[in-house]
Amino acid sequence: MGLELINNLMDVFTAEDPMAFAHPDGDPWADFREGMRIEWKMDFTYKHVLGKYSKFFIELTNHKFLATECPGCGKVWAIPRPLCADCLTITKWKELPGTGTLESFSISQFVPSFMKVEVPYVLALVKMDGADTLFTHQLRNYGDSTDVVKMGMPVKVAYATEPVDHPMLLMHFEPA
Ligand SMILES: [Zn+2]
Repeated sequence: MGLELINNLMDVFTAEDPMAFAHPDGDPWADFREGMRIEWKMDFTYKHVLGKYSKFFIELTNHKFLATECPGCGKVWAIPRPLCADCLTITKWKELPGTGTLESFSISQFVPSFMKVEVPYVLALVKMDGADTLFTHQLRNYGDSTDVVKMGMPVKVAYATEPVDHPMLLMHFEPA
């Protein structure tokens, strides 16, 4: 018997010292440089409650974009917050027009495979009209090149018209 006991073994290897230096007593990790690589298929199903944010996602299915407004200090939170982070007052839901301005963005040329999205992936930070905070989501449908994606460009919420695997995917941003 031996390593053949491990069904999904890929290989056993010896790891290099990534920061090799002359240690007076030799490599202190020498006894722990043996590595084992396995192929591990994971398939989890979670029951996931969206909590006090649920109404936001429910109204996305009605193609409405909700924020929360603080009755104490008047701040409008989008991403909504059930509790105002500035004055600790419980907020109220408020519908916004779903338009805004691109304040910042990052363009990813790689995304984890579980995200099931194409690259480049443009993550947008948007100041929604009527809100005092920034909202983060993917920017799509900007055309053939990310060159057109610029800070200050007007954007709008686009709503899913096909069933999605997570309520997060009920919306994304598009150029307005
Ligand atoms: Zn407040």
